[in-house]
Amino acid sequence: MDRILLVEDHPAMRELVARELARSGIAADAVGRVGEAEACLAQVRYAALVLDRGLPDGDALPWLQRLRARQVLVPCLLLTARDALHDRVDGLEAGADDYLAKPFERDELVARVRALLRRQQGWVASSPQWAGLVVDPAGARLSCGRSSVNLAPSELQLMLALVRAEGKVVRRGALEAAAWGLTEAVTPNALDVALHRLRRKLEVLGSDARLVNTKGVGYSLEQVLEPTGGQGDRVD
Ligand code: CA
Repeated sequence: MDRILLVEDHPAMRELVARELARSGIAADAVGRVGEAEACLAQVRYAALVLDRGLPDGDALPWLQRLRARQVLVPCLLLTARDALHDRVDGLEAGADDYLAKPFERDELVARVRALLRRQQGWVASSPQWAGLVVDPAGARLSCGRSSVNLAPSELQLMLALVRAEGKVVRRGALEAAAWGLTEAVTPNALDVALHRLRRKLEVLGSDARLVNTKGVGYSLEQVLEPTGGQGDRVD
């Protein structure tokens, strides 16, 4: 899964960071405490961790150290208000892979998270494709031939999951987890609404891929190949 876990106790900061990451095609579960972060880590294999150092249930560094001791090696970007040399060294020695002092620029945050993800998997640099569809995670766009459309953050994560499945069925629960993760409040029909929008976008693109519902199981992309040069098509 390409989700990251964001641990930041300041609600406005947490929302801002999650939104900026989403706009850059990076889906995040966002929590405010170490305890909540532990619960998320127990359920999801995250691609990266963005960790605020000062949290209400303590300094994040000893927790990060404990994670590393337990061989939880998810790449970690540490956020902190402190910028003294010894704080940076402490962070790196506790097991952080990178370090960003507040206040930071949006672009730098996104670039550093992408760098962590690249080291992990190389997925951000790649644009998954299937049946003539190309998903650009960084630009949040879906293309087919010369046409392209913008994707909302949840639509982008759904499309990534479906294109990577290459025609195989993806379960509803897996799609919901890909689009909204563990921490976003979602209405029961949010998935149907998002998939409806994706169907429209596939039509707008003129794609020959259709979104197919396998009742009670999930959804898949199916390539509908039009007959070409068949006698029935002749109009002359
Ligand atoms: Ca804090």
